[in-house]
Amino acid sequence: MKKTYDAIIIGAGIIGCNIAFELAKRGWKTINIDKLSDAGQGSTAASCAVIRVHYSTLDGTAMAYESYFYWDDWANYLEAEDPGGMAKFIKTGIMVLKCQVNEKLKKTMSLLDELGISYEEWDFTRIRNRFSILDETSYYPPQRPDDSAFGRKNKDALPGAVYYPAGGFISDPQLSTHNLQVAAEAYGAEFLFNSQVTAIHKERHQVSGITVADGTRINAPVVINAAGPHSFVINRLAGIEDGMKIKTRALRHEVIHIPAPSGFDFETVGCPSSDSDIGCYWRPEVGNHILCGSEDPDCDPKDWIDDPDVFNRDMTEQARAQAYRLALRIPEIGIPRNIKGVVDLYDVTDDWIPIYDKSDLSGFYLAVGTSGNQYKNAPMVGKIMAELIEQCQNGRDHDIDPIQFHLEHQNRTINLAFYSRLREINTESSFSVLG
Ligand SMILES: Cc1cc2nc3c(=O)[nH]c(=O)nc-3n(C[C@H](O)[C@H](O)[C@H](O)COP(=O)(O)OP(=O)(O)OC[C@H]3O[C@@H](n4cnc5c(N)ncnc54)[C@H](O)[C@@H]3O)c2cc1C
Repeated sequence: MKKTYDAIIIGAGIIGCNIAFELAKRGWKTINIDKLSDAGQGSTAASCAVIRVHYSTLDGTAMAYESYFYWDDWANYLEAEDPGGMAKFIKTGIMVLKCQVNEKLKKTMSLLDELGISYEEWDFTRIRNRFSILDETSYYPPQRPDDSAFGRKNKDALPGAVYYPAGGFISDPQLSTHNLQVAAEAYGAEFLFNSQVTAIHKERHQVSGITVADGTRINAPVVINAAGPHSFVINRLAGIEDGMKIKTRALRHEVIHIPAPSGFDFETVGCPSSDSDIGCYWRPEVGNHILCGSEDPDCDPKDWIDDPDVFNRDMTEQARAQAYRLALRIPEIGIPRNIKGVVDLYDVTDDWIPIYDKSDLSGFYLAVGTSGNQYKNAPMVGKIMAELIEQCQNGRDHDIDPIQFHLEHQNRTINLAFYSRLREINTESSFSVLG
């Protein structure tokens, strides 16, 4: 390992590794530093890795759609074969149920129309042709199982769903991150594991490097915070948090993993689905299982975490609440006594839209606040961060003259001020994992 690089990337999750790949392709000498022992072992490992294109904003939808093309052509995009295997894009399509809270998806369909993304509207007869196990009763608003209103049926059933083919999920998010590491290494990128960044150095208002826990100092004129749920810890180390209008914090989330109804091959016919009527999303999982997470309805208490190194990794009552809500939609599921699943942290911003930006410290950049919904966007995050960093290092003031980034598969341009740390809270956001 050298002691001087063009850029240091703190974190080797899906975001940090994709930034490494895109910078390395541009000829930058990068090093990712991670306190864990391999790429993608942080919150990325817990990701449901759902690849969908629908978001609450036009820019969010365009970014997700652009990223989709890279997942769909993963091996060619990476230009490298990982000896450990390549992650697979299981392209099932995505189903989003129409309901009261999403206004029967009027806005979603208008965003899809504007971007030319094809979709179908399904009524419940069509839905049940594919998913005979789904019940169409509406229960909105979502409730806790111990609430007397839990399971109270609304007069009108759900009207149907929007289904679009441009989506699915990635077989193994940790492996996909390792794929990126291998691809970045092919361009000369380096990785340092089992090393915690404990200090960030500055000289004359310019970042100059970092020190890791064993005292090793590494120098670079560019340092990128891609530390996931630890992003606020790193921002405080760099002393830049006060200069951010939009901030990040860590939020604990549980995803349950329960058997699909016996006799129904959900693993083959299932697809990632969003059901805001019960405040849950789900997707198929190997072994004919269902992964199910919360869409952050008001009834679910928010478990904000002060220290991202210390949180409860066991399933709690929250898991049972998600299982009971899922059982309203899929009445035939059996709920195990001990619900299994994963527990990890989201890195959430004030408006659940990420921050991809410079900072008030020259040379210190932010790829943070991924708010439980940016795994899918990693390819585009790598691309926009590489462009933003290169232009800012060449003297452009992105705060005053925001970079416009061309989305080549859609022939449209996105204003990167959308992701600024200095933006006002974006009121178009869902303020949830839906983004
Ligand atoms: C339960 C769950 C389900 C999700 N489902 C989806 C989904 O279906 N679709 C989707 O698009 N997104 C999903 N997400 C969100 C997505 O997984 C995240 O946005 C993404 O993985 C974040 O990647 P990252 O690289 O920023 O963070 P991480 O993967 O957490 O990587 C950050 C890395 O930084 C390292 N680090 C932190 N501090 C230091 C330090 N001081 N020194 C050195 N290293 C440090 C950590 O060890 C870690 O490896 C989900 C997230 C969770 C938790």
